[in-house]
Amino acid sequence: MEYKDIATPSRTREILKKHGFQFKKSLGQNFLTEPNILTKIVDTAEINEQTNVIEVGPGIGALTEHLARHAAQVLAFEIDDRLLPVLEDTLSPYKNVTVVHQDVLKADLVKTTSEIFEKDYPIKVVANLPYYITTPIIMHLLESPLDISEMVVMMQKEVADRLSAVPSTKAYGSLSIAVQYYMEAKVAFIVPKTVFVPQPNVDSAIVKLTKREKPAVEVTDEKAFFRLTKSAFLLRRKTLWNNLLHSYGKDEETKSWLTAALEKAGIDPSRRGETLSLQEFADLSNVLEELKIKG
Ligand code: SAM
Repeated sequence: MEYKDIATPSRTREILKKHGFQFKKSLGQNFLTEPNILTKIVDTAEINEQTNVIEVGPGIGALTEHLARHAAQVLAFEIDDRLLPVLEDTLSPYKNVTVVHQDVLKADLVKTTSEIFEKDYPIKVVANLPYYITTPIIMHLLESPLDISEMVVMMQKEVADRLSAVPSTKAYGSLSIAVQYYMEAKVAFIVPKTVFVPQPNVDSAIVKLTKREKPAVEVTDEKAFFRLTKSAFLLRRKTLWNNLLHSYGKDEETKSWLTAALEKAGIDPSRRGETLSLQEFADLSNVLEELKIKG
């Protein structure tokens, strides 16, 4: 049986009114009211009855019900307790949805998914993310030991550009590197701000992140690699050299270590961090570790 979509302006208004719900801007509550966009999101995520889905922030269930119609099971994390009775009402026709009242950033994803998901199907994350914590959520998911095969996530267009950026562009930074190290990133499509209530100030984009079989580059120490990439972008107008000194120290020993590493990796210290490719960052990080170990 097909149910009337939650994500139309009239049904959304009706649900909000019935439950006396007031939006909380501080929780990034912008609800989707266009079913065609939801169909496109589900198509992009290629969800079928052998996919388990994690959703972050179901709101009143607009995306959740589309996911539930296609996936094996949906596990949705919602921080706002006022939405729990609403979701119980709107999602009552769907028996394969579990809503967990929790801040996703505090969630133990391995534990919760193993408790909820009955079958060992591939896990995908599909969500219209709360904009105020898009980056922390993406990082939390990437760094989780849970095997997530794909993420199809909506965010502000400007953040989407950063995730998928290539070197020597304004959007390229440590976030691009952190994401692209683990995942292939591509902007799937743009979503106009007019399809949300309340309307945000900017347009959004759906990003598709597909887990690589192995990380994009080989590094001897991931922690050291991410420290290096963060250091290189500390101050965007400064050279790589200046940023490295700022982060690692300005004493003579550190200077000669950095000089030797840059030379061995064949990287000109007067370049800016944003011109370095993932491979160059990996080379430099590996040489820094190698020279450090040798003392
Ligand atoms: N999925 C719905 C939709 O597309 O209409 C709502 C999306 S809305 C942009 C973001 C949702 O995330 C809200 O329901 C909000 O309450 C919830 N949220 C905000 N911070 C959260 C957090 N830390 N953990 C879980 N959910 C959160």
